[in-house]
Amino acid sequence: MVSTKLSLDTLSELLTQRWQESLLVYPDLATICVYWEIGDSPHFRQARGFATTKTDGTTFWLTFRDTFMCQPSARQDAILRHEIGHIVDFSGVHPREAAWGPEGWADEIAARIWQMPIRYDVDDVQTLLAGTSPRPERLGR
Ligand SMILES: [Zn+2]
Repeated sequence: MVSTKLSLDTLSELLTQRWQESLLVYPDLATICVYWEIGDSPHFRQARGFATTKTDGTTFWLTFRDTFMCQPSARQDAILRHEIGHIVDFSGVHPREAAWGPEGWADEIAARIWQMPIRYDVDDVQTLLAGTSPRPERLGR
């Protein structure tokens, strides 16, 4: 598969588009502020770690590993959707249902917004293409 490096502008456009789509389902998200950056995180020491979501309760930060930018587009898009699922969860606009852990719930939120499951590929990374759904238990739910 050929991967073309995603530009910062294109990532910004994709994030904005996915965010606008999530607002259609969760209009209360419009009151929160989300920043994003290319940066580092302990999570990125794992080969499968490409993005993290952090919050202080009111502001959210998405951090993307530099190599996120040259991943296949179906992987990039699935990761974005998963991280938006975390924002929905952590913001409290859709309290987590009892059966779910934070990772599974992020995928479930994404599946509900975009009507498409988040799957896990051979590298245990989120994808919109073929893969395992729900998230494999060994990855933590
Ligand atoms: Zn996650």
